[in-house]
Amino acid sequence: MDEEALVRFFQTLDRRRFVEGSISYLARLDQPLPIGFGQTISQPTLVLEMTRLLSPDPDSRVLEIGTGSGYQTAFLSRFAGDVYTVELVPELARAAEERLAEMGYSNIHYRIGDGSTGWPEAAPFDRIMVTAAAGTMPLALIEQLAPDGCMVVPVGLPGDQILYRVRKLPDGSIREEKIERVAFVELKGKYHWPDQDDIR
Ligand code: SAH
Repeated sequence: MDEEALVRFFQTLDRRRFVEGSISYLARLDQPLPIGFGQTISQPTLVLEMTRLLSPDPDSRVLEIGTGSGYQTAFLSRFAGDVYTVELVPELARAAEERLAEMGYSNIHYRIGDGSTGWPEAAPFDRIMVTAAAGTMPLALIEQLAPDGCMVVPVGLPGDQILYRVRKLPDGSIREEKIERVAFVELKGKYHWPDQDDIR
C-alpha cells in the first residue's frame, strides 16, 4: 500500500468526529478513549500500525470485526476496495454508519451482530482486521481468508494480548507472525476469553 498516503491520511483524519463532544478535547491524545457500552476507540498510532500491517490495496475486499466508532473503518474505506464491517452493539453500529456516511465514505457494508464467525455470505476476503481481542485464534475467520490474504488479530487474555498477522499462502497453508503486545477489549462470541459465557 501507499504508506506515505496512509501517514497523510492519519494526520488529517479528525478523531474528534469519532468521540462524544464532551471528551473531544482528549481526541488528539495517543490513547484509547471510551465510546460507551464499555467499549473504546483504539489508540491512533495502533490503528495506523495495524492498517500498515494489513496493507490493503484499492482492489482488496476487507472484513472488519468490531466497527466501534468507525475510526479504523475510515482507514480501511480509504485504502481498500470494499469494506464489510460487523459490530455487536447496535447503537455503536448505527452511530458509526451515520458518521461515516456523513463524512462521505461509501464503500462500506454494515452488519449488526456477532462477527466472531465472520461474514460467510460475503467471503472470501483479501484482508481481515479484528479490532477486539480473541481468547484463541479465530479459525472461522482464517477459513474466510482468500489465498494470498492476511488477517491482523489480537489474541490473548484480558489486558494482555499478542497482535498477530496471519497469512494464508497461495497454497492455502497458514503462517502466523507475532507482532507486539497489545490490550484490546474482548471479542465476544465464539472465541471469547476463558471462563466466560457466550455472548453477553
Ligand atoms: N476499531 C474500533 C474499536 C472498537 S473496540 C474503533 O477504533 O472505534 C471493539 C469493538 O468490537 C467494540 O465496539 C465491540 O462492541 C465490538 N465487538 C466485540 N465483540 C464482537 C463480536 N463478536 N462481533 C462484532 N463486534 C464485536
